[in-house]
Amino acid sequence: MRIVAAKKLLKANDLLAAENRAKLAAAGVACVNVLGSPGAGKTTLLEALFAAFGPRTRPAVIEGDIAGALDAERIERLGVPVVQINTDGACHLDAGMVAAALGDLDLQAIDLLFIENVGNLVCTAGFDLGEQLRIVVLSTVEGDDKAVKYPAIFQGSDALVITKCDLLGHTNFDPARVAADFRRLAPDGRVFQVGATTGDGIPAMVEWLLAIREDR
Ligand code: MG
Ligand code: ZN
Repeated sequence: MRIVAAKKLLKANDLLAAENRAKLAAAGVACVNVLGSPGAGKTTLLEALFAAFGPRTRPAVIEGDIAGALDAERIERLGVPVVQINTDGACHLDAGMVAAALGDLDLQAIDLLFIENVGNLVCTAGFDLGEQLRIVVLSTVEGDDKAVKYPAIFQGSDALVITKCDLLGHTNFDPARVAADFRRLAPDGRVFQVGATTGDGIPAMVEWLLAIREDR
C-alpha cells in the first residue's frame, strides 16, 4: 500500500510539473533547476551569474529552503525578483510548491528563472519541477567521488558546475575524475569549472545560459 501511495504522489507531481512547464513555455521563460548539497555554493553562483548577465536577461529566482529567507535576501539585494518557499522540514521541492511560487511571479517581466532547490544530493533528483534544464553544483571541498556515490542526481542533469575552483590547490579534489564520472552518467552534459568569488569560468556559463534562453 505504501509503495502505491508513493507512486501516486510522484504521478501527481509529474502532472503538476507538466503544467508548470507549459506555463513557463507559454510565457517564454527558460527555467533551470539548481541542485547541490548545502554549502556547495548555489546562491553564490547565482549572484556571480547575475552580476555577469548585465542587461542581457531578465532573471528571477525561486528559493527553496527548509526555513528562513537568507538566500532570498541575498538575491533581493541584487534587484532580482525572488520568491521564497519554506518547505517546513521537507528536504526537496516538488512541482506543487513551484506552481504556487509561479503565481507570485510576473512571468511576462522575466525570461530566465532559476529554482534553487533545497540543499540535498539525494531526493531532489526524484522530483520534476517543470524545469527546462537541471544543473548540479558540486564544490571542490565536497570530494570528487560524489558522482559515483549519488548517481541519480548527476544522471538527470544537463550540466555539472564545479564550484570553489579557486581552492583547487588546497584540496585533493580531481576535477577530471568527477567530470569523467559525470560524463558516464550524462554523456551530453556540459561541465563548467568556476570560481564564483574570482569570476573564473562564469563567462562560459553565461553564454551557455543565454543561448538556452534564446532557444526558448
Ligand atoms: Mg543557497
Ligand atoms: Zn526530500
